[in-house]
Amino acid sequence: MDFKKLADLLFPNVTDTPEDVERRFPPRDLPEGAKVTRLAPSPTGFLHFGTLFPALVVERLAHTSGGICYLRIEDTDAKREVEGAEKNLIDTLAYYGIEFDEGVTADGETGAYGPYHQSDRAAIYHVFAKKLVEEGKAYPCFNTEEELADLNAIDKKAEIKSRDWTGEAEARKAAQAAQRAITLDEVERRLASGDPFVLRILASGDGEKKIAANDLIRGKLEMDENDEDFVLLKSDGIPTYHFAHAVDDHLMGTTHVVRGEEWLPSFPKHIQLFTYLGFKLPKYLHISQLMKMDGDSKKKLSKRDRGAALSDYRVEGYPPKSVMEYVMTLLNSNFEDWRRANPEAPWRDFEFSVKKMSVSGCLFDLDKLADVSKNVISRMTAAEVYDGALDWSRDYAPDFAALLERDRAYAESIFAIGRGGKKPRKDLTVWRDGIAYAGFFYDELFKIEDEYPDTFAKADIAAVLADYLASYDHTADRDAWFDGVKECAGRLGFCPDMKEYKADPAAYKGSVADVSMFIRVAVTGKMNSPDLYDVMHILGEARSRTRIENMIVKLK
Ligand code: GLU
Repeated sequence: MDFKKLADLLFPNVTDTPEDVERRFPPRDLPEGAKVTRLAPSPTGFLHFGTLFPALVVERLAHTSGGICYLRIEDTDAKREVEGAEKNLIDTLAYYGIEFDEGVTADGETGAYGPYHQSDRAAIYHVFAKKLVEEGKAYPCFNTEEELADLNAIDKKAEIKSRDWTGEAEARKAAQAAQRAITLDEVERRLASGDPFVLRILASGDGEKKIAANDLIRGKLEMDENDEDFVLLKSDGIPTYHFAHAVDDHLMGTTHVVRGEEWLPSFPKHIQLFTYLGFKLPKYLHISQLMKMDGDSKKKLSKRDRGAALSDYRVEGYPPKSVMEYVMTLLNSNFEDWRRANPEAPWRDFEFSVKKMSVSGCLFDLDKLADVSKNVISRMTAAEVYDGALDWSRDYAPDFAALLERDRAYAESIFAIGRGGKKPRKDLTVWRDGIAYAGFFYDELFKIEDEYPDTFAKADIAAVLADYLASYDHTADRDAWFDGVKECAGRLGFCPDMKEYKADPAAYKGSVADVSMFIRVAVTGKMNSPDLYDVMHILGEARSRTRIENMIVKLK
């Protein structure tokens, strides 16, 4: 076969050589050890929580090594594309603080290695496709769509079943041999009648043999050599993932390919392709899929599972910081110890290590995320909490947002209660919790939520509240304020001292703790609230008094 002639027949318009293209993509000028990584999503709409894992690894590897990370959009499958998906993807990654140095951004593309949309790179792929044909490493295949679908089905089965299941494997081999046997005359004839073709690699591997492959997470792997003439270009001239991956990651100077483990079975294909093209193989990290517990066994976290949709986290109001800390917790087993030792440090100070990544699949756990998030919010300043809560409320609870905006200083003082110090309060897991937490500070939202226990006579409670009101001194400091509660207790037959009370509870109507609870429910509507002294001083004297008065009326 005259491969040069075949190449000219198939790609009459391709005049550039690979060298011409290489000149447009010179090696990057980066310091020794700098890693170049990319996130290469397909804009198919649904954003899985798992997207954040490669995203974070990509960002960390680049930015902890003085390197570059870029965003490439793999939009070669027009059928799977969803309107608006790309914008949503970019916004979401930005929302979670994943910053790219290059590639596709909200305002178009930036960087010298573009275009960064694969759909804009057809001419580049064709140059390398032509080269492979010229070298006898790729050939056209004129099967119809249906024939291709049948072949694909055979390939799939052969991949799924082991190769001992010779029926399918043999059918595939026979089909492959028939395809390879195409002559130059036949090609000319088919092209002249306008028949579409796909371009296939001419696999040189022996499926019975093994090749060594290396994965930075999994270590050394032994895999079957590729013996499948997989498709490089589809009949519309658009490349498959395999081909685009090799060409793009080579030209764009990617040093580390971070991708999901679903690509692991295709790894031998890629190794063969890089060898054929004379490209240096990058390093690979295949990230394990997220797992969840299903009874006693682990299962993949699928699209429909609770917590799988990334959009839900925004709706619920998880701060992006919490989510990223949780992802880091799952990515690196030593992150939690580090966090305990460095409670105040920004999470990006943690030294991320590929070696600490799990091979077997991280276990997704919403309770754990809640725990992480509580801690993250508890370490924020009141101003940060205010900003986070307001931002969320504007989208999901506009009435609450209006209250927060009415008086920033007032709202911040609410969020400041119990903040700072070694053991900060942990009232909020998500911004949504801010409504329940801060609601009673606003008359519009205040209501009596908890009833008094019926072990107390209403008249006794009312008497306590009336006495308390009469003696209340809003200017008293914290200690004097509590003395006031104790004195009120003592006057009304409630024991002011807990120890004494416990020694002989029958001698009293209750204790000072009960008196505090009476006041607390009147002022906050709840049995549990932040420090009552703080609450009453934020509410102010008039509002505190009014609420107690209203409760006395209610009890009558
Ligand atoms: N477009 C591929 C995907 O979304 C990218 C895989 C890769 O990162 O190489 O799965």
